[in-house]
Amino acid sequence: MQLERGRLPRHKVCGEFVSAESLDLLTNLLDRDHATLLQGAVRISQARVFLDGRILRTSVDPAAASLARLDLDAALWHSAEVAGVDSHQQVAAQSITGTGPFHVTTTAGEFEARALVNASGRWSNLNLAPAEATPSEKWLGIKAHFAEQSPESSVDLYFFEGGYCGVQPVRVANDDSALGRVNASAMVRAHVASTLAEVFLQHPALQERTRNWTALSNPVSTSPLIFRTPVPEIGGILMVGDAAGFVDPFVGDGISLALRSGALAAKCLGPVFAEQASLSEAASQYRESYRESLLPVFRASSKIRQMLKLPRPVRKPLLTILENAPAIARYAVRKTR
Ligand SMILES: Cc1cc2nc3c(=O)[nH]c(=O)nc-3n(C[C@H](O)[C@H](O)[C@H](O)COP(=O)(O)OP(=O)(O)OC[C@H]3O[C@@H](n4cnc5c(N)ncnc54)[C@H](O)[C@@H]3O)c2cc1C
Repeated sequence: MQLERGRLPRHKVCGEFVSAESLDLLTNLLDRDHATLLQGAVRISQARVFLDGRILRTSVDPAAASLARLDLDAALWHSAEVAGVDSHQQVAAQSITGTGPFHVTTTAGEFEARALVNASGRWSNLNLAPAEATPSEKWLGIKAHFAEQSPESSVDLYFFEGGYCGVQPVRVANDDSALGRVNASAMVRAHVASTLAEVFLQHPALQERTRNWTALSNPVSTSPLIFRTPVPEIGGILMVGDAAGFVDPFVGDGISLALRSGALAAKCLGPVFAEQASLSEAASQYRESYRESLLPVFRASSKIRQMLKLPRPVRKPLLTILENAPAIARYAVRKTR
């Protein structure tokens, strides 16, 4: 059974960059009705980083896909339904008791579950309460789609003091806009900007680029964005995606981690339903596999975050090295995106 508190399709705050290493998994998860989602996706073969008045260019090889969450989340949901999963939207899980089997109270009644996977995102009523952030530490995520004439197949990251904004071309199903479409998604400190218009003013090149944009969707926002050490299992419940841990958005791996941890959780729980393993054995196998295969992504992203926090005079020589050594820049992109 799968439960979703909201309704699909809907826009979600996200850069919509899906790294190449999860595309095979996505192909396997999507029902053949949704094959065109990947076939028709814009491929992103270049990354440009706009930082400290310079542009660092590097290839994204193999190319990533740009997938609108509006279509992707609905396609995944529908594919699970087609595969026979009992699916309920606008039903929220309110509380869980037990350590397996579990007793789940929802807005549509109560039920028992032999195993549970918590995929409820960064912070929900089911997850650890986020630590209180001071206004200067509080981060927001904001995103919207805009019309732009012939955007390049590039993910462009504009960094400024107090945040960044990513821009990349994207397609959505049944799009009737004659121009190209781009997704702009920003992660920004609350005291620096609270709207995309304010974000665009933070970087001269971004301000120039957005001058002729027209909005194709209403902005969506989310807050707070909190980074913490990933926790893959709590009391026998397997935590997947952002519920387990939130990776820096600019590394563009959150969707990939959500898909890969979900697949890992399913693989570990298979033997429980086949009466070949206990829930605690499955949970311990999941914790171990998560540590081995997914934790390295969090480590790489936190190194890049540290670099961006460096004062500008220290960042400068590092950028020069990356500019003059494309192999190192490609390596950095491969390690993070
Ligand atoms: C600014 C920004 C840019 C980003 N850019 C990228 C990017 O380019 N590429 C990338 O890969 N990742 C990116 N990410 C990260 C990515 O969006 C997340 O990692 C991804 O959405 C995680 O998916 P999830 O399924 O774990 O959580 P979510 O997508 O948050 O889904 C959780 C779902 O659970 C539902 N829910 C919550 N509580 C309950 C409940 N009690 N009962 C039932 N349902 C519930 C919610 O309604 C929600 O639909 C970005 C994030 C931000 C903030």
